[in-house]
Amino acid sequence: MSKKNKKILFFGPVASGKDTQTFLLAKKYCLPVIAMGNLLREQAEQKTQLAKKLFSYLKSGNLVPDYLVLKIVQKRLAKKDSKAGFILDGFPRDLVQARSLEKITKLDYVFELKLSNQEVLKRVADRRICHCGATYHLKFKPPQRKDICDKCGKRLFIRDDDQPAVIKKRLQIYQQNIKALRRFYQKQKNYYLIDARPSIEEIHKKIVSKIDPESSSG
Ligand code: AMP
Repeated sequence: MSKKNKKILFFGPVASGKDTQTFLLAKKYCLPVIAMGNLLREQAEQKTQLAKKLFSYLKSGNLVPDYLVLKIVQKRLAKKDSKAGFILDGFPRDLVQARSLEKITKLDYVFELKLSNQEVLKRVADRRICHCGATYHLKFKPPQRKDICDKCGKRLFIRDDDQPAVIKKRLQIYQQNIKALRRFYQKQKNYYLIDARPSIEEIHKKIVSKIDPESSSG
C-alpha cells in the first residue's frame, strides 16, 4: 500500500454514492470519514439552541451558514484520528468553504462523483438511512433484513430531506455551487472526475487506482 498521505475529499450530488465509496476507502486505508451531513445531523439531535437552528436548515435542504459548518469541521479535523489522513465528504460545498479549508489543511486527492439530475432523482427514491449513520439503497445496497440496519439493528427510515421537493432544492443549490468548486479543484493536479454510474466495485477500483496506481487488486 502507498505510504503517501491520504487527505481525501469527495464531492458530488446527493445519492452519487459518496457514502458508499467513502466507507469502502475508509476500510481499506483505515481512515476516518468526516461526513459533514452526519456531523450536522448529530448536532441537530442534541437538546441545544444550536440544534434547533440546525434542524430547520437540514429539514429545508438549505445550506447551514458557513461560520457554523466551519467551526464544526475545524473541531473535527483537530482530533487525533485525523492527523495522518481523513476522508472528507460534504465539505466544502462551495468556493468560500473550499478557500477556508485550504487555510486549515492541504488535500492529497479530490474526487468528484458525477451523476445526472435524472439519475439522482431515481436513486433517491430508494434510499434509506439509519440513525447510526449507515446508508442503504433498496436495489444497489439493500440491508440483510428488510428495513433493519445491518450495523446496529435499528429500523431504517427515509430522510426528511430526501422528500422530492426538498431533493429538487438540494440539487438546485448543488448545481449553483458546483461549477466554481470544480474550477477551483480542477486547477490542482490531484483532482479526479469519476463517473458515478458503474457498479460500486468498479468505482471503488477506479478510485483506488488513482490513490495507489501500482495496486491492481482494489
Ligand atoms: P448531506 O448529508 O451531505 O446531503 O447534507 C445534508 C444537509 O446538511 C444539506 O442539505 C445541508 O443542509 C447541510 N450541509 C451538509 N454539508 C454542508 C456544508 N458543507 N455547508 C452547509 N450545509 C451543509
